[in-house]
Amino acid sequence: MIATAEGTKEVLHKYPFIFQKKFGQNFLIDPHVLNKIIAAADISRDDCILEIGPGIGSVTEQLVEHAGKVICVEIDNQLIPILNEQFGHYDNFELIHNDILKLDLGDLFGGEEKVKVVANLPYYITTPIIMILLENKLPLESITVMVQKEVALRMAAQPGTKQYGAITAVMNYYCETSLVANVPQNCFMPRPKVDSAVIKLKLYEEPPIHVEDEKMLFKVIKAAFAQRRKTLLNSLCAHFEIDKEEVKNMLDEIGIEANIRGETLGLEEFAKISDVLSKRH
Ligand code: SAM
Repeated sequence: MIATAEGTKEVLHKYPFIFQKKFGQNFLIDPHVLNKIIAAADISRDDCILEIGPGIGSVTEQLVEHAGKVICVEIDNQLIPILNEQFGHYDNFELIHNDILKLDLGDLFGGEEKVKVVANLPYYITTPIIMILLENKLPLESITVMVQKEVALRMAAQPGTKQYGAITAVMNYYCETSLVANVPQNCFMPRPKVDSAVIKLKLYEEPPIHVEDEKMLFKVIKAAFAQRRKTLLNSLCAHFEIDKEEVKNMLDEIGIEANIRGETLGLEEFAKISDVLSKRH
């Protein structure tokens, strides 16, 4: 098994490989954590899995055993021969040597009806990866990923808490987020400087709220969190360049207090604000 300290050392001795800090390489060496990821991802032979950053294959080893198809995208050219040698004989294994942020993911999933993403993500690009996955209307069912613990707490936060931010509100539009497991630093080689957590995002077939204009919704969310100490009224006035009286009237019309802070609002309230602003333009 690769996802142990011994298994990882064995692979690293067998092949020439130098850890690339710039690629966020911290390989999973704890089989219990791996089991939790695989159980949470709920994989069957009917599933097509996208694994972002397979590394030396610690998670891949389980994915090829359980899934119908596994598409791995890895940026580091040192890892390509290692992965091909270990998994090339599996019919369901496909390896793409590329940067996940540069790929056309729509093309990648051509004929697939539903795809599940499973990954121990490179932390330097966690948010861009998750946003690309959510925003591009891909055929995704769920995303089960290891992220930095602090990011996990932000993504799963409730309105009004310190961790709740624009990213939380935007994510609530696309998916239901749950915390699967906390993962300490000693579960990786080399040990990262931060704690980690596994989260599962279950994508909605339809967003939980309806808005006239999605782009406006995201602008409203961005405005509400741009300066956390401003009231909602001041944030909206500044961002949309509308005078106070008019914004106050709009908020009155939809029953939202003008003097609260934007960070206390949930998705439904952001949607109401977005719709009155869309009507105005
Ligand atoms: N899945 C392995 C594991 O759990 O041990 C490795 C996880 S490691 C945290 C992140 C992996 O993502 C590394 O293999 C790294 O080379 C790869 N990676 C980093 N940036 C990438 C990018 N932009 N596109 C694809 N893979 C990337």
